[in-house]
Amino acid sequence: MFRIGTGYDAHRLVEGRKLVLCGVEVPHERGLLGHSDADVATHALIDALLGAAALGDIGKLFPDTDPQYKGADSIKLLEAVVALLLSKGWRVNNADITIVCEKPKLAPHIMSMRERLAATLAVPLDAVSVKATTVEGMGAIGRREGIAANAAVTVFWIASSATSGRTPRNDE
Ligand code: MG
Repeated sequence: MFRIGTGYDAHRLVEGRKLVLCGVEVPHERGLLGHSDADVATHALIDALLGAAALGDIGKLFPDTDPQYKGADSIKLLEAVVALLLSKGWRVNNADITIVCEKPKLAPHIMSMRERLAATLAVPLDAVSVKATTVEGMGAIGRREGIAANAAVTVFWIASSATSGRTPRNDE
């Protein structure tokens, strides 16, 4: 049994912050503002995974009012979400991410991003796609006020001892 999930996120670009995308630090004069490391692409991926399993969203799991997530490494949050899905019998099949970003150019970092996510999701490299696009100067992202990301994933269900061959329910 397969399911699909989608996720979207956007964060504001500010001075004095590191720019982290898909768990990779990208050299840039500004970084994304957020309670955690503000890794917008990993956040979109997390929401896609939670969406596929109908397990809520990132804000519900990791509230930005909770001091333990201040400055959090979003890859660690992704690890926790992969483990949560696995505990419900769901395994990741593939992921496809589009980062919407006017500057900087992300092409030199795409392979590192795919490797980082594939290792975290425990899937082969060819099951993780990361793409980047600009919006040709249009709107807030075009004015470089922020960066957004879209993610789509598929997950498949493996019978686990906890669910003994039945379709899992989310309250289990
Ligand atoms: Mg976010």
